[in-house]
Amino acid sequence: MNIHEYQAKTLFQHYGIPVSENGVARTPEKAFFLAQAIQKPGISFVVKAQIHAGGRGKAGGVRIVRTPEEVRSVSEALLGQKLVTPQTGKDGRVVNRCLIEHATEIEKEYYAGLLLDRSSGELCLVTSSSGGMAIEAIAEKHPEKIIKHLFSVKERLSEEKALEVASTLSGDENEKKAIARILIAMVKIFLELDASLIEINPLGRTKTGEVIAVDAKIQFDDNALYRHPEIEALRDASQEDPREKEAQDQGLSYVGLEGNIGCIVNGAGLAMATMDMIRLAGGEPANFLDVGGNATKDQVKAAFEIILKDPHVKVILVNIFGGILHCDVVAAGILEAAEEIQVKVPLVVRLEGTRAGEGRDILGKSSLRIQTASSFQEAAEKAVKAL
Ligand code: GDP
Ligand code: MN
Repeated sequence: MNIHEYQAKTLFQHYGIPVSENGVARTPEKAFFLAQAIQKPGISFVVKAQIHAGGRGKAGGVRIVRTPEEVRSVSEALLGQKLVTPQTGKDGRVVNRCLIEHATEIEKEYYAGLLLDRSSGELCLVTSSSGGMAIEAIAEKHPEKIIKHLFSVKERLSEEKALEVASTLSGDENEKKAIARILIAMVKIFLELDASLIEINPLGRTKTGEVIAVDAKIQFDDNALYRHPEIEALRDASQEDPREKEAQDQGLSYVGLEGNIGCIVNGAGLAMATMDMIRLAGGEPANFLDVGGNATKDQVKAAFEIILKDPHVKVILVNIFGGILHCDVVAAGILEAAEEIQVKVPLVVRLEGTRAGEGRDILGKSSLRIQTASSFQEAAEKAVKAL
């Protein structure tokens, strides 16, 4: 689960990570009053669109202005609009709140990220002295400027190690100490709140030598949310894909994508391989959808419903390898769905594994125009052709 920057900054403050004085507004008037309330001579304001995506700076979602009146007019222009950034997809995300804060006079921008390194099972701090831009861009242009530091969950980050990491960013003693304190707080948040990613980009150093989290991103592990009702309460459904929510309620994993070939697959690995195969055949998947290892007829039906809510979907590719999930159950689900919700787009089905023969018989006897395939390469090719 993602939260907004203003929420992450509140958590940061709680854990002692310095942030700029701020407040959040849902209306231009509130933004104006907030700005007036925190106004200080010689200090500008930043107005920041709150959406669950980065890349706002380049998209006009982060604006530095001088007066409360300008805070109001910039907020007015942002609130209620959809902001499209390189991370939102073409539909963008609606801006329901603006963060208003004192502009930081940044002299140097760093990057600090914390995540789990799945291959070693350890925590991984990622730092770079080239903050500000997307970490992906740094990785591409200056891979040597990204430094990874692994450490064990049990031992956490000792002060000594934190200072060692900080010294890759700065040579100044006071600044190193300030960065180390922030890194240690990041680890504390990560472990106490079951985060899956914490990113501060940029981590800014001011002219006066302070180190401040200028941006704040925290992602939480969905599987651990039941332990943190106070975090779950921060959920903002307006920023989430309603189809992903519906799928979750049905016990399906769904991720909407940009293409036009809808996919219904069992197993995350097979789903990813299917998406690759579609691309290899010259197509673009409209989604990732894993119906799981023991889907019921109703879940297969729900999968069709969710996929067909995407107007871009022009073909549906069903790729099932029957293990615990029996192919005849899937076939029955397909027919029921096709009848009830009137699947009008072409269907390409590949069934293999447990009771595959029975499954194909069921499909073969129906009056629907279903194309079957025996390998999933063939299925992908047929789906692309059906476009
Ligand atoms: P993102 O583009 O969504 O990651 O949003 P950020 O919060 O990172 O803001 C984008 C960029 O705006 C940052 O990389 C900074 O360069 C700049 N920025 C944001 N806040 C401030 C600020 O308080 N002072 C200054 N000088 N620049 C800022
Ligand atoms: Mn940022």
